Amino acid sequence: MDIGFIGLGKMGFPMARRLVEAGHAVTVYDTRKEAVDGLVALGAQAAGSVRDVADRVETVLVSLPTPDVVHAVAVGKGGLIEGNRMRRFVDLSTTGAVVAKRIFDTLKEREITQIDSPVSGGIAGAEKGTLAVMVSGPRDEAMALEPVLSVIGKFFFVGEQPGAGQTMKLCNNILSAVAMAATSEAMVTGVKAGIDPRVMLDVINAGSGRNTATEFKFPKLIVPRTFDLGFTNGLMLKDVSLFLSEAEALGVPAQVAQAVVNSVRRSCEEIGPDADFTTVVQPIERRAGAEVRAPKEGAA
Ligand code: NAD
Repeated sequence: MDIGFIGLGKMGFPMARRLVEAGHAVTVYDTRKEAVDGLVALGAQAAGSVRDVADRVETVLVSLPTPDVVHAVAVGKGGLIEGNRMRRFVDLSTTGAVVAKRIFDTLKEREITQIDSPVSGGIAGAEKGTLAVMVSGPRDEAMALEPVLSVIGKFFFVGEQPGAGQTMKLCNNILSAVAMAATSEAMVTGVKAGIDPRVMLDVINAGSGRNTATEFKFPKLIVPRTFDLGFTNGLMLKDVSLFLSEAEALGVPAQVAQAVVNSVRRSCEEIGPDADFTTVVQPIERRAGAEVRAPKEGAA
């Protein structure tokens, strides 16, 4: 299929690369020229602007940072809506249901279909094609995309209503963030009490506290102090804040989510919005005066 791809960042680049490698004709654009050049070297075509992509292909995928950027690229001045070929707009970003519905309505006036398709599984999942892909929109249009989206991961049809895929993604990410924030408090408490964090993780992973932070983030990225998950504090603050607004708009109590928003916001303020999301543990470590790292060999 002829595909446009806009947003060749940490997630977009490996997803676009997989589409090229699967034999699709992919036309790419990003404000960073080096990202475009990297994809062209692998066999993609370069477009000169957002609008140029929509002038060339019927199906455009985007993987962009924030709802504002997605909205501007889709329906803003010089955006995809001004192109004369695009018929399908597929949003792989985490945008939230409110902006997704707004884009759906605006594009519908031009007979362009908006499809939600946010993803979960991180950079490793994008590279291996093992993402969870949460698709919503008109069923026939959504199902027609299955062969393309299966190249980047496992295709889940979430529902026909616009925004459903986005709500699904936020429900997933709030759980990921809760696990990270709560595990940080538990691990710093155990370490300050003198327990080896590797022993703690072995026990928790054999017990009922097991979660994505204990199975992967703590053993692979935090105990070794590499903090290189590849997902920033700023992006997680966006996701958990979007979840909180959607829960509030639906009248669902969300006190745990509020606490997690506070915890991620504190990490953004103290460590930085561009720092890795795994640094959420650091403000807790600073206040406790204890770090989650393996004890030095020979230490008591
Ligand atoms: P990123 O910042 O690495 O990539 C965003 C890309 O968009 C960059 O290459 C940037 O140059 C480009 N861009 C920004 N504005 C643009 C514009 N106006 N026109 C064209 N290109 C533009 O972000 P990422 O980590 O790849 O995340 C992308 C999306 O995927 C986000 O919505 C994020 O929440 C979501 N997501 C990220 C991860 C992850 O682990 N990083 C996992 C799942 C979902």
